[in-house]
Amino acid sequence: MLRFAPSPTGDLHVGNMRAAIISYILSLKMDEKFIVRIEDTDVDRNIKDKEKEILELLSQFEIPTKHYILQSDNFDLHREIAQKLLDEGKAFYCYCTKEFLESKREEASRLKRPFRYQDAWAELEKETNPHPVVRFKMTDSISFVDEIKGKLFFDKKELESFVIMRNNLPTYNFACAIDDKDMTLIVRGEDHVSNTPKQIAIKNALGYKEARYAHLPILLGEDGKKMSKRDKSSSVKWLLSQGLFAKAIALYLLILGNSKLEKYILDNKVLNYKDLVAEVDISQFSNNSVHFDYKYLLFLNREILRSMEASEIIKLDSSLPKNEALIDVFKLEVSTILELKELLDYALAPLESKVSKEYESEINTLKDCLEDKSLFDLDYEDFKKALMEKSGLKGKSFFKPLRIILSGKEHGIELDKIYPVIRDFLKGEK
Ligand code: GLU
Repeated sequence: MLRFAPSPTGDLHVGNMRAAIISYILSLKMDEKFIVRIEDTDVDRNIKDKEKEILELLSQFEIPTKHYILQSDNFDLHREIAQKLLDEGKAFYCYCTKEFLESKREEASRLKRPFRYQDAWAELEKETNPHPVVRFKMTDSISFVDEIKGKLFFDKKELESFVIMRNNLPTYNFACAIDDKDMTLIVRGEDHVSNTPKQIAIKNALGYKEARYAHLPILLGEDGKKMSKRDKSSSVKWLLSQGLFAKAIALYLLILGNSKLEKYILDNKVLNYKDLVAEVDISQFSNNSVHFDYKYLLFLNREILRSMEASEIIKLDSSLPKNEALIDVFKLEVSTILELKELLDYALAPLESKVSKEYESEINTLKDCLEDKSLFDLDYEDFKKALMEKSGLKGKSFFKPLRIILSGKEHGIELDKIYPVIRDFLKGEK
């Protein structure tokens, strides 16, 4: 079984979506079940209804969510297992207060030593602290072979006994390790590498079978720093709100750090997870951190938009003007469906509303001339000549304002292409 395990504590991050997509494709490849597990253990940080939004986004990316579970549904099981570990001496109560641990942390920093919890501290405050936590007793070094990073080793000296239950609730590492019992391959971001030895230690203590792990490198933003939650383009929801197709985002996330897939995806530009099964292998993904390049994503989106029939595009957005001829002209000029809508709305707006600060007087002159609707009966060449003559404008002062009137843009679209498809609107016949 494979899983995607998002936390409902913030917007779904592109890095997490990347892990979800790769994990899902690998589940198809391995012919194993795929589940979505909402990790709602951090009760204070959970955002109401965030899980619904995450599931909805996954559906838009055609990732099945019918087998989704809430980690909180397993809290009783987590408690039971904590008790079992306590009974077996594999976990213990720790009565240390925050203040005590803070003083130990300061002391370590003063002595320029790394801070590490000592099991011997567990009962020092037993008499005065009625709210102990449960810690898992770390006894061994841990090593595992990561599918992307290779062999990783964590020395016992660097590992400490860590909290698994606080206020009768499981911590992330504990709940995650238990709920991963039946997982064969765990794909997630490398920010979790340091959690993995803890989770493996718990699973070993419980006699669970070993899972394979693949930690994907973090995504870097334009500034070369880790793409943080504050980076707008790190939010899948935000990217969709910019008019990007889920398909383009998904394909881009697969291309990132995977040059082998890049060619296949650019040649095909269709998102079909089943077809991708033959192309995707976890070992293809680079271990180097990768830059999230919004411009590349826009390019991919543009390519997809161009390859679509106007009739298909109309179906995607009910607010688009249903004019296939116009869509065929304008789709070559834009990167997203939002931009397309803007251009279409502008082109189809009444003549009176076409204004621009630049060339204001020329635009007004042309608009006056175009009051004579019979001009629109002419084909483009004759229309152009007649309008030029009538307005007395020529060169740049004729073509730029005319282009602004017809397309809303100073550059781009060929006037002879756009004129035939919008002349009836300008004439007021449609
Ligand atoms: N809930 C964790 C997160 O959203 C993911 C943990 C995991 O995949 O193991 O970062």
